[in-house]
Amino acid sequence: MNIILFGPPGAGKGTQAKRLEAEFGYKQLSTGDMLREQIAKGTELGLKAKEVMDRGELVSDDIVIGMIRSYIECGTCQKGAIFDGFPRTVAQAEALDKMLSECNLQIDYVIELDVEDASLIERIMKRAAEEGRGDDTAEAFKTRLALYRDYSANVLPYYKYKGLHALVDGAQSMDEVTASLMDVLGLKKVRQA
Ligand code: AMP
Repeated sequence: MNIILFGPPGAGKGTQAKRLEAEFGYKQLSTGDMLREQIAKGTELGLKAKEVMDRGELVSDDIVIGMIRSYIECGTCQKGAIFDGFPRTVAQAEALDKMLSECNLQIDYVIELDVEDASLIERIMKRAAEEGRGDDTAEAFKTRLALYRDYSANVLPYYKYKGLHALVDGAQSMDEVTASLMDVLGLKKVRQA
């Protein structure tokens, strides 16, 4: 099963993807994490991406599609993948479909985490204090949120048309969001917490 977690910055995509990965063995594929890894390693790609990311803008399609491609090798994600922060453009969505279909795979669910703007800024400021991400500033957040509203309006209809879209209330507690996601995905807890 291949899942896309969609949602604005601070909606909890990363947290929930990690929980589903730990519980059910799906592989979290976060383009944001991959880019931050490149920055931490000080690679040329990382240096270029950092400037764009710190402004809250989008890194080029070629770069993120290339990174995702290197992870989608037929047979590597046996249980399936959770795409976190990818795709963010229609070109990325089309490239993803193509890469998956080459392995006889497909996207099964696109789940949008819905959180209102006021809560998002609160969460981002908390994360800024805890993790010190370069793009968790008030200014970059404004750009990221505006871009999200813009690209979600382009990308989500692509999946709604295919009947894959579901909406989950991301303002619930972390456990409640996980439970709602499991409901949508038809998953049952495999062991006690
Ligand atoms: P995230 O961790 O998903 O919030 O991503 C952090 C930043 O990385 C974004 O604000 C973008 O600058 C960049 N980024 C991550 N994923 C993508 C993507 N799929 N397309 C373009 N830029 C991305």
